[in-house]
Amino acid sequence: MSHINKILVIGAGIAGPAVCYWLKRFGFSPTLIEKFPDLRKGGQALDLRGVAIDLIKRMDIYEKIYNLRTQLEIGRYVDAEGNTLHEEKGERFGFREGEDVEIIRGDLIEILMGAIEGVPCYFNQLIDSIKQNEDGVRVYFKDGRNELYDLVIGADGIHSATRRMVFDEDEYKFVNLGGYFSIFSIPNYLNLSNTEVLCEANQKLASIASHKNSKMAQVAFMFRSQHAVNNIRGENNQKQFLRDTYQDFSWEVPKMLELMSKSDDFYFDSVAQVKMESWTKGRVALLGDAGYCASPLSGQGNNLALVGAFIFAGELKKAEGNYNRAFNRYNELLRPFVEANQKLGAWVSESFLVQDEVSKEVAEERSDMILQEVRIVSNAISLPDYE
Ligand SMILES: Cc1cc2nc3c(=O)[nH]c(=O)nc-3n(C[C@H](O)[C@H](O)[C@H](O)COP(=O)(O)OP(=O)(O)OC[C@H]3O[C@@H](n4cnc5c(N)ncnc54)[C@H](O)[C@@H]3O)c2cc1C
Repeated sequence: MSHINKILVIGAGIAGPAVCYWLKRFGFSPTLIEKFPDLRKGGQALDLRGVAIDLIKRMDIYEKIYNLRTQLEIGRYVDAEGNTLHEEKGERFGFREGEDVEIIRGDLIEILMGAIEGVPCYFNQLIDSIKQNEDGVRVYFKDGRNELYDLVIGADGIHSATRRMVFDEDEYKFVNLGGYFSIFSIPNYLNLSNTEVLCEANQKLASIASHKNSKMAQVAFMFRSQHAVNNIRGENNQKQFLRDTYQDFSWEVPKMLELMSKSDDFYFDSVAQVKMESWTKGRVALLGDAGYCASPLSGQGNNLALVGAFIFAGELKKAEGNYNRAFNRYNELLRPFVEANQKLGAWVSESFLVQDEVSKEVAEERSDMILQEVRIVSNAISLPDYE
């Protein structure tokens, strides 16, 4: 193994722990840091499908994930009065088939973290600046410490600070697809069981689902708006923005908004993509949403993060630590997969929330089309064997 060994990974989401797993398995020494004081529990249910299934099997975590899967049985479309328009089996409703699984984000992160025992992980860590030269990357932490690494990996999500610190503004594009989404948990006051109910009206969407944990339900809102995300900063402003946006929405929405005030896992963001010509610069690389977010509407964020992490670590191993060669291969090999998935994200974003109300025919046709496209893009890469 070459002199590349000490690697800092920033962000304990999906991509961060996944790349630590593969780096460790391939003989490197990663250290993981996260800005939050602990792992975030709960969150929305995320999909794992296509080649990512093969990867989680190779990581020996498929069974754990499968056992904790959401087991959604029914997806129901209702009109603004709550009348059922259409029902689908849970798997089809979530565009999954075969061995594909859906799991709550927090559960997946916990499983990934469990798979990297022995990798040093530090929480409550923030970086002030990153300076690199031919010999290494010096990372200056907000608490005054600084440390030299061979490589730094930014797996710090769509609003990546690593990206801002290392890449010039003309080296990345944050493309807003014209919408927002929000998710949060509330008590399962509708007593839903393995069921998701979704209402689309006036180009807005609201849904509520309860999976295994019947005491709580996950609410999701999605809508189009021309507001710039920067103008809606801070949880209180975002919650108010949601109340204003959904003030004319009936169904269960007024109750959901009332219960939102007490939710402790509120998440709000724009539906956006990150586009870059290169995900590496010098000794720094970006992984997952930080480099190539395809938007939550692609349903492929996890899969991109997992595949990117594997290819990154694998190419580093194959290049025997020659990071220039490995970074070039990472950019080259992953590019078509990322582009196919970003195309899907943009297309889904265009085909959602375009009707005043969704009929059974529209819902069925849309499900068929998305399922077909998702199947193609989630398999749009052949995974090398690096072992
Ligand atoms: C709290 C949260 C909830 C989410 N909920 C959903 C959802 O409901 N639906 C959906 O489709 N997608 C959601 N996402 C995004 C989804 O997890 C990603 O699209 C996808 O899984 C790719 O993972 P990632 O590891 O690249 O990024 P992320 O999952 O976003 O992980 C990035 C990690 O980096 C950490 N981080 C950020 N900035 C810094 C910093 N400066 N220093 C150190 N650490 C930092 C974050 O706290 C996070 O743990 C959510 C992301 C977050 C952070």
